[in-house]
Amino acid sequence: MPATQSHPGSTQERFREGAPRGNALALVAAMWDGFRLRCPSCRQGAIYASLTRMNPACPRCGAPFERDNEGDFLGAMVTAYSLTVVFAAVLLVLLFVLTPLPVYQQMMITAIASLLFLLVFYRNLKGVWVAVLLALLRWFP
Ligand SMILES: [Zn+2]
Repeated sequence: MPATQSHPGSTQERFREGAPRGNALALVAAMWDGFRLRCPSCRQGAIYASLTRMNPACPRCGAPFERDNEGDFLGAMVTAYSLTVVFAAVLLVLLFVLTPLPVYQQMMITAIASLLFLLVFYRNLKGVWVAVLLALLRWFP
């Protein structure tokens, strides 16, 4: 994005104008940046200002992290839930294949580990949603 030009539009419009052509690999890289709590656009700005407070936009490049839309929050929840389900499924299969434990114990371990995963990584999972949201802004203006 040309930083020297100023545009009269909103933050989202300005960001959209400088959007590069993306592909699936770029989306995965952006999602990883979001998971690392780094701006998926410039890869350097911090998504979070403090432990619980998210920056509304990237402090470095101005990419919008939040919008005043409740559907966006729902998207963050769905992203966190989906990735936790993937984690749970992989863990359950690993326990089933690698341990002689009874099934109910495998399921208990999976349930507790999944809850901990969600609690520990919620910020990171929300960062992944930020990357998805920015990609949607770019590809479907
Ligand atoms: Zn940035």
